[in-house]
Amino acid sequence: MTTTDAPALEMRGLTKTYGSGPTAVAALRGVDVAFPPGTFTAVMGPSGSGKSTFLACAAGLDRPTGGQVLVEGVDLTARDEVGRTMLRRERIGFVFQDFSLVPYLTAAQNVELPLRLAGRRADARQVAALLAQVGLADRAEHLPSALSGGQQQRVAVARALVTEPGVVLADEPTGALDTSTARSVLRLLRAAVDTLGRTVVMVTHDPVAAACADAVVFLVDGRLAGRLDAPTPEAVAARTARLEDLVPAAAR
Ligand code: ADP
Repeated sequence: MTTTDAPALEMRGLTKTYGSGPTAVAALRGVDVAFPPGTFTAVMGPSGSGKSTFLACAAGLDRPTGGQVLVEGVDLTARDEVGRTMLRRERIGFVFQDFSLVPYLTAAQNVELPLRLAGRRADARQVAALLAQVGLADRAEHLPSALSGGQQQRVAVARALVTEPGVVLADEPTGALDTSTARSVLRLLRAAVDTLGRTVVMVTHDPVAAACADAVVFLVDGRLAGRLDAPTPEAVAARTARLEDLVPAAAR
């Protein structure tokens, strides 16, 4: 059941082990975390700490070994693959580091794509309005190859928002961008939270990007290793430096 006061995204006792026997790797070792509606949270941690696995489980792309993932109160882990895909298409938007636009579709067609995949009618006015919101009203008919990296990522943000999802998952969305274009993409994610009420969960290595969020949660070795509210770049950088010291030598 969906309840209005449910967290937008919640993990309960989430575990994920890849492989079995002596070569098994425990990527997540019992993560409990909730992201309230209309919040922006950054997820940080050293390489190998489980960030990608965390996002893949949140998206229902990877099946956890144990525990639950709830999207707006709906247990993703209780659904079969078709059910997970439907929930993902309707309620989750994605932004990837490499933009992942379809190269032979125009900006407008890329933005429409999630609606088409969800079997919904693409509303040209809605797509145009979203492209205008991300500052690309005059680029609607361009192919991705005719757009800069920052422009492509802004198309990707519009695409992530078109189904009006409760949750937007962003995987290093500024990792391939220079500082000023990164800032414009972060502003869009911030606006998606502040003006549209979306819930953004963003994996990042960048303390400046993380400081755009309301809070940062830290992962170390598959476990939550703390939280920082109202983060500043300096506070995030200081905490990240200390976390590196906690990583078991074998995992480095
Ligand atoms: P991060 O995104 O923080 O770098 P990952 O979630 O990618 O961390 O990885 C966490 C751990 O799980 C690492 O030890 C990694 O080697 C392991 N891992 C990730 N994906 C797989 C996989 N498909 N098969 C085996 N091990 C994996």
